[in-house]
Amino acid sequence: MVAGLLAVLGGAAWVLLDRGLRQNVDVSLQAAAVTVATTSRDPAAQLGDALEALMGPMMAGRLYELLDPRGRPDPRLATRGTRLPLSAEALRNAEAGRETFETVELPTMSLRVLTMPIVAGGQIERLVQVAVPLDAVETARRRFLLILAGLAPLAILGAAAGGWWLAGRALAPVDAMVESARRITAEDLSQRVAVPPADDELGRLASGLNDMLARLERAFSSARRFSADAAHELRTPLTILKGEVEVALASTQTPDEYRRVLASAQEEVDRLAALVEDLLFLARADAGVAPPPQDSVDLRAVLDDAGPALIALAERGGQHLTVDTNGPVLVRGSAPLLLRVVVNLVDNAIKYTPTGGQVFVRLAAAGQAELTVRDTGPGIAADDQARVFDRFFRGDPARERGGTGLGLALTRSIVQLHGGRITVESQPGQGTCFRVWLPREMGATP
Ligand code: ADP
Repeated sequence: MVAGLLAVLGGAAWVLLDRGLRQNVDVSLQAAAVTVATTSRDPAAQLGDALEALMGPMMAGRLYELLDPRGRPDPRLATRGTRLPLSAEALRNAEAGRETFETVELPTMSLRVLTMPIVAGGQIERLVQVAVPLDAVETARRRFLLILAGLAPLAILGAAAGGWWLAGRALAPVDAMVESARRITAEDLSQRVAVPPADDELGRLASGLNDMLARLERAFSSARRFSADAAHELRTPLTILKGEVEVALASTQTPDEYRRVLASAQEEVDRLAALVEDLLFLARADAGVAPPPQDSVDLRAVLDDAGPALIALAERGGQHLTVDTNGPVLVRGSAPLLLRVVVNLVDNAIKYTPTGGQVFVRLAAAGQAELTVRDTGPGIAADDQARVFDRFFRGDPARERGGTGLGLALTRSIVQLHGGRITVESQPGQGTCFRVWLPREMGATP
């Protein structure tokens, strides 16, 4: 690009310089011709000196001539100059009263010649010829070309070196980022890309990459924790089961004792089966392989069906459960899965609320279907509120109550499969409120 630019600029400067030099020469010639014309009338005048004063030592060669109207040297006019060539065209022009500029190549030099008629009283009195050697112009042009030819490669080299240096400096942070990105592996996602100090595109790219790494690190560590937790959860019932079987096999038992061991083993197997079922559901939901059926489900009917069982459950726990519905609310999805949402939330509310507490279930339809499950239990600490939906997260009281920590993770998964969302609000000591929003079935009116 620099070379192209230099070529265009150099070409333009060359054309302008050439034209300027030629115009200068022609203007000087004209001034000299006028001087010769006026001075030649006065025999006493020192024509040569006058010209030299006007045009400088260039005129020292005395390149001027006075001719008669037909172009012959006029001995009476005492010409002292060199004999200058007079072309037929210049003579024709002079006879017509016009001046002529010509460039003439002599064996020794090239000349710019002006032939000018001197008119007096409507008559051509004589012709004046003035010439300037063009070697000064040539020298100026040659010097210009030399400078251009010398400076252009320097400028191109300078631009290339500067460009190389600048690009190197600008891209150095990219190299540093590539270097740190190479060091980051799935086993060690705690490393970060070096962030350049400037807040430019590269700085933002590095921060963007670091944000992505932070998210990946969270996802990886939660996946790792998930498998560790799952293994741990499965191990406990299996250990109990194994212990019971071993004890039963160690000695001869009565049929009643075998029955008791088998009943206890069945409990553990049920627990294992439920856990495996939940894990399978979450894994399928993650993989997106089993979208829920798109039936038209009336949430009020779901609540009405589950109501008596839930009320009985609450009474067993010594709480009072109120279900408040207000006409049918239609959503698209799977009735058993939505029932699971209701049961999970109400079961938690009953499980964590101390005896004598209250649980309110409310179904409303304002734009979206809104299911609220509120209790007057111990509430959830602010730090834990963001984590209750995590898989295997259990608050302190939950451990004694035998929860797996999968209930809310599963609930959120089901809600999200139905295109909805779930939130938790809680004031520790004052109770907890879970809210589920689900898109209502299009075109359906309650
Ligand atoms: P869990 O099987 O332990 O009940 P969940 O996923 O259902 O698992 O709940 C996760 C944790 O959230 C619980 O261990 C408990 O600490 C907290 N939690 C859930 N619901 C409530 C509630 N209504 N009141 C207080 N804490 C709750």
